[in-house]
Amino acid sequence: MTTIQEPARETEVLTRCDVLVVGGGSAGSAAAIAAAREGARVVLAERYGSLGGLATGGLIALLLTLDDGLGRPVIGGLCEEVTRRMREKGGAFHPPAEEWGDEDPEKIDTYRKWGLVWGGANARHRVRYSVAYDPEVMRLVLNEMVTDAGVDLIYHLWGADALIEDGRLAGVAFQSKAGRQAILADVVIDATGDGDVFASAGCAFAHETVHPWLWFRVGGVLELERVLAEGAPFFRTPNAGQVLFPWGSVASLGRKIDATDPRDLTFAEIECRKLVMQEFEKLKSSRPELADAHICNIATQLGITESRRLEGRYVLDIGDRGKPFEDSIAITGHWTKYGAVYAIPYRSLQAREFPNLLAAGRNISVDHRTHNATKEIPPSMTTGQAAGTAAALAVSTGEDLASIDVAKLRERLRQAGGIVDYPFESAPC
Ligand SMILES: Cc1cc2nc3c(=O)[nH]c(=O)nc-3n(C[C@H](O)[C@H](O)[C@H](O)COP(=O)(O)OP(=O)(O)OC[C@H]3O[C@@H](n4cnc5c(N)ncnc54)[C@H](O)[C@@H]3O)c2cc1C
Repeated sequence: MTTIQEPARETEVLTRCDVLVVGGGSAGSAAAIAAAREGARVVLAERYGSLGGLATGGLIALLLTLDDGLGRPVIGGLCEEVTRRMREKGGAFHPPAEEWGDEDPEKIDTYRKWGLVWGGANARHRVRYSVAYDPEVMRLVLNEMVTDAGVDLIYHLWGADALIEDGRLAGVAFQSKAGRQAILADVVIDATGDGDVFASAGCAFAHETVHPWLWFRVGGVLELERVLAEGAPFFRTPNAGQVLFPWGSVASLGRKIDATDPRDLTFAEIECRKLVMQEFEKLKSSRPELADAHICNIATQLGITESRRLEGRYVLDIGDRGKPFEDSIAITGHWTKYGAVYAIPYRSLQAREFPNLLAAGRNISVDHRTHNATKEIPPSMTTGQAAGTAAALAVSTGEDLASIDVAKLRERLRQAGGIVDYPFESAPC
């Protein structure tokens, strides 16, 4: 590798805060809202111009899942609040509570058409507590919740380097059109999805390459009811006449990519956009119901399931399924499995190397197979909420993240509507 020496320079401090959240996806938004509602001075820095990350820009417009697959809700708190607010604006649809866990094939078939029931053909399917929503409504709701909570939201800041002083993270240096600026904080939460902050700080992490996805929405489908009843490669959405195509490149791109490598990302952006258009044109000519259909929008962000995962104080793995933890701060089910439940320990959010750095969302400390459950939007919001609450608690007591009173953290999460325990002994896992 060829390198150059950059001259040392003074960097302007843009602002100081108690809690700095880097990345405004579902996890980062929840972290910022939670910390601010707990009274912390919070900055939320996001590289793009809207909140939600993959849940909006990636058009992954399905909250999978808020239940255990057996009819019991396992996710509450901010994820439920976001769902309620979207529903009140007409931007969300989900089965009513009395149907969660129902095994009626007709109901299962109805919800499958919305993308709300997944899993193998041989599974004993049940109605899930999952939510189809309009990403534009989610953007609006997250903006409202973040600003109402008093978060200092700054868009168009790209977190570039962790700033380290005396063994602590002093903050993060950002790059933007304004140049290079620093934000200093007592606690930093890495919610970039790709672990940009903890990687830059030198923390241990695992790294995967993936097949990229590019979901898109289509309008003008004819005879939608009939086509859905016969089986279609798309889902119904809350917007009348509009469907969601969960397009992926597994069969067509030829290779996996590293989502932290700009050259790989460029290759995937160009090829996936071309392939989506080509495949849609082919579908139009082979399926009469699509003859007059048009693409409403293609995700502006590639669908990246996985890149860096923190190797934190605890790495949650597949063997932890069905296991309670004393420091459990969230529970998640599995979007394709029924009764597969994980408790997520607080230690899976904590970096080993720094006393004031947490991870939230899809880059928390779990193994590859467990990531399939913890990466989903509801658990991402929930680990975000836990990280924000823990950060605010640490700031208020002046303690390191590893020293805070975890019982108090769990109590605060419960009071905010969260679910932190699960009756593992009474449920088949
Ligand atoms: C193809 C696919 C299908 C999926 N299907 C579902 C599904 O049906 N249901 C479900 O619940 N989940 C699904 N998921 C998982 C889910 O979408 C994500 O794992 C979840 O949204 C992750 O949220 P996050 O906030 O952790 O990360 P992200 O959504 O990736 O958010 C990260 C945020 O950080 C910002 N950011 C990144 N780097 C920086 C930086 N250096 N500086 C500043 N900002 C930065 C990004 O712009 C983004 O806003 C799917 C994922 C994929 C890829």
